[in-house]
Amino acid sequence: MNPELYPLGLRIAGRLVVVVGGGPVAARRARSLVLAGAHVRVVAPEVCEDLAALIAPLPDGAAHHDGPGTAGTVVREARSFEPGDLEDAWLVHTATGSPEVDAAVAAEAEALRVFCVSAGDAEAGTAWVPAVARVTVADVDGAGAGGPTGSPASTEVVVAVNAGRDPRRAQHVRDAIDALLATGELPLRPVRPAAGGRGSVALVGGGPGDPELVTARGRRLLAQAEVVVADRLGPRVLLDELADDVVVIDVGKTPGFHPVPQEEINALLVEHALAGRRVVRLKGGDPYVFGRGGEELIACEEHGIPVEVVPGVTSAVSVPAAVGIPVTHRGWSRGFTVLTGHEDIGKVPAASDHTVVLLMGVSRLRDSAAALVASGRSPETPVAVVEDGYGPRQRSTVGTLATIADVATAAGVRAPAVTVIGDVVRVSPAWRAAGLG
Ligand code: SAH
Repeated sequence: MNPELYPLGLRIAGRLVVVVGGGPVAARRARSLVLAGAHVRVVAPEVCEDLAALIAPLPDGAAHHDGPGTAGTVVREARSFEPGDLEDAWLVHTATGSPEVDAAVAAEAEALRVFCVSAGDAEAGTAWVPAVARVTVADVDGAGAGGPTGSPASTEVVVAVNAGRDPRRAQHVRDAIDALLATGELPLRPVRPAAGGRGSVALVGGGPGDPELVTARGRRLLAQAEVVVADRLGPRVLLDELADDVVVIDVGKTPGFHPVPQEEINALLVEHALAGRRVVRLKGGDPYVFGRGGEELIACEEHGIPVEVVPGVTSAVSVPAAVGIPVTHRGWSRGFTVLTGHEDIGKVPAASDHTVVLLMGVSRLRDSAAALVASGRSPETPVAVVEDGYGPRQRSTVGTLATIADVATAAGVRAPAVTVIGDVVRVSPAWRAAGLG
């Protein structure tokens, strides 16, 4: 137990740090110090490849410990540690592999009142290195549209974990936190307004509805959002996790009834982003697959708003998969076409080894099936209508192009549903259960 451990974040940029030792541990330390902007002086008779790669010659006359700067540097004294090497240092790391040398370094550091991390014997040191997880919180700023980025110092969340003399344990805790940071489950939303008062829009593909089928990026942006504009389809349970002060605007469309027209959705996105807010437009599936994401992107860009588009798992592929239908399958299907069932189907390859996936338009199923037969598909082509994929009403109704409209009507099939047409439907348990051959 070390109840006296006092966590602190060092602003080490532009300051001299001495690293004694030339092995892989010294190299790791030197690398993170350089990333933090420190001027690193390595004292070691020999250095490993990783460390050698970090060492760059200083320009003539350049000093390396004269006040704050941003770019870190590494210089090397190619010899063993000598008294006096810690002169001017703000911090010391010793990782020589020799207990005697490490002890001598620690003793000199102690005498000079410089904090010292000792890799060999942690107890001999006066500072410990934590396991670290980092995330840039405001990284939607300036993404895509080349807008200004906030200063790194104000945008980063750093989590440092110490676990006494058990660094592996600290790493495990850090990894768990890292995973939560990656999935957006931690409240990363900045409390201070974005740098420059500039808002942004992220068009996030939410996947087919299961909250686990959103990308890590999407979850993270959602956790940072101040305004969420949500669809009817997509992972709506994620809205329940949002903090109370997040503004949630429901623009959900139901078939045949569009509560919020697209122009108004565009205007909402623009209005909130121009007011300096981080807006997430949470959409079902993928933003660019019948999602009108392109229109929203253009509307925002016309107002100079930075936009990030986060792809999503489209229902066109995932909803068939939910009921055991692969849209392509070796020997059964060589490709697939995704179409809207709202409109005339037009021309698609007629062979049954080309899968056709229809989104929307379940009420036009009869017309769509007839159109496919008219353009050369066999009336015997298998069809599955998959309702509410990944949802509580998930159901697969199967038939052929000749029968599916009647079968679906009898079964009371309704939106949202994805219709799959082609030999791949034979792969599904529902087809086999129906005994359709
Ligand atoms: N951008 C979305 C599609 C939007 S169009 C995507 O990539 O998935 C809306 C249509 O998607 C619905 O009419 C339905 O055909 C389909 N859809 C979306 N989610 C669905 C789900 N969970 N189950 C069944 N169909 C779904």
